[in-house]
Amino acid sequence: MDFCPECGKLLQTQKGKSGKTLLMCLKCGYKRNLEENEEVTFTEKIEHDLVREMTVVMEKEDIDKTKPIKDLYCPKCKKNQPVNFWMIQTRSADESPTRFFRCTVCSETWREYD
Ligand SMILES: [Zn+2]
Ligand SMILES: [Zn+2]
Repeated sequence: MDFCPECGKLLQTQKGKSGKTLLMCLKCGYKRNLEENEEVTFTEKIEHDLVREMTVVMEKEDIDKTKPIKDLYCPKCKKNQPVNFWMIQTRSADESPTRFFRCTVCSETWREYD
């Protein structure tokens, strides 16, 4: 187990898209690759309040131009807007990642519920 150098919170283990393992801080968004010789215990699941925390962290960031954008219904603007979306593996690696959305017009951020 390792702690975040930025805020001291316990780092969560995440499987990246490439199959590489990442250590990630859900508090401040810090992440780094796992060293090859480093051993970690896999975190089976991340509680839902951490997902909320993550959403709050995202809300503080500027709109990320590198994230994909598509037209989606924004619950705040109450009409279709260009919306950033990204995915976060919030539970065990077998389950599908949670999708997050952010309206680029009003910065409203929400997650997709199953
Ligand atoms: Zn941190
Ligand atoms: Zn909006």
